Amino acid sequence: MLPGGGIGPELMSFVKEVFMFGGVPINFETIQIYPSSRDDDLQNAITSIRRNGVAIKGNLIDNFNNEISHNVAIRNELDLFVNVLHMYSYKNVPSKHQNIDIIVVRQNIEGEYTMLEHEVVEGVVEYLKVITKENSRRLARYAFELALNNGRKKVTSVHKANIMKLSDGLFLKICFEMAKEYPDLQFEQIIVDNCCMQLVSNPHQFDVMVMPNLYGTIITNIICGLVGGVGLISGRNYGENYAVFEPGTRNTGTDIVGSNIANPVAMLNASADMLEHLGLNFHCDMIRTAITKTLSEDLVHTMDLCGKASTTDVVGNIIKHVKHFAKM
Ligand code: ATP
Repeated sequence: MLPGGGIGPELMSFVKEVFMFGGVPINFETIQIYPSSRDDDLQNAITSIRRNGVAIKGNLIDNFNNEISHNVAIRNELDLFVNVLHMYSYKNVPSKHQNIDIIVVRQNIEGEYTMLEHEVVEGVVEYLKVITKENSRRLARYAFELALNNGRKKVTSVHKANIMKLSDGLFLKICFEMAKEYPDLQFEQIIVDNCCMQLVSNPHQFDVMVMPNLYGTIITNIICGLVGGVGLISGRNYGENYAVFEPGTRNTGTDIVGSNIANPVAMLNASADMLEHLGLNFHCDMIRTAITKTLSEDLVHTMDLCGKASTTDVVGNIIKHVKHFAKM
């Protein structure tokens, strides 16, 4: 467990509490990384994830002097090449659109997140965006396999290949090639700016979406906004060997620390994802069902969902349902 900064530590304490009442058989090795943490501390965290195979993580706050963000370093070193967000509407949660059910498969280790930039001459800065055939291909493969294995109908590739003809052009070409191997799935491509507009006006046209790194963070924030905000949805980071679970839009929430108003659902959903990954399906279902009952039946909503409940009210209600399940 890497609690991270901002609201991360308080949300992790609720994960531990819910696990305790639900009898979830997990012991956490907790490692805290601070903005001032040295490279050794980060390496300890990475070694711990390698040893355990999985982690749950809050967003780490970076010191602006760090050459590379701690969050990016973890994803790169563990080769967590894909970030998956399943974004769906909860019944009776106020939102801009209802019945949204979209999976975004996002490139997680290259593209615009290389953090390779330099000042060529004073007043002129260059930044390197890197797209590789190999990483694009395994990402596209992941998206099509996910669509196929989950009974999805369509994969949409999001890009800006009309301007970034070589980099996004390569990404798009690989998606087209991959689509030929999956004739039962419909394939579409869309330019990222049009995609943003289409999402806001008619999100129901989208099913599974695959995209480079930066578009991923923008598109997932838009979709989270459409289903009720950043406090609901979890995200999964996968590589060949390791998996890291976290709130989907990786917020820190520094402005709401300690005020008992943060929505705990995204972090609890991340914990349920981790349990599913570990094969603890009973406990995963228990937590997901408790969340759904709390949001959709009991209508216990935090302020971000236009409700009046505090963080601890929501957690208390989830624990009430978890206790019921744990007795079964
Ligand atoms: P930082 O906090 O890292 O400076 P930021 O200012 O962009 O980044 P975020 O942490 O990304 O803020 O959060 C964006 C907004 O969403 C903030 O207003 C924050 O309070 C809110 N927010 C984030 N997480 C939650 C949550 N779990 N529940 C409710 N609101 C949240």
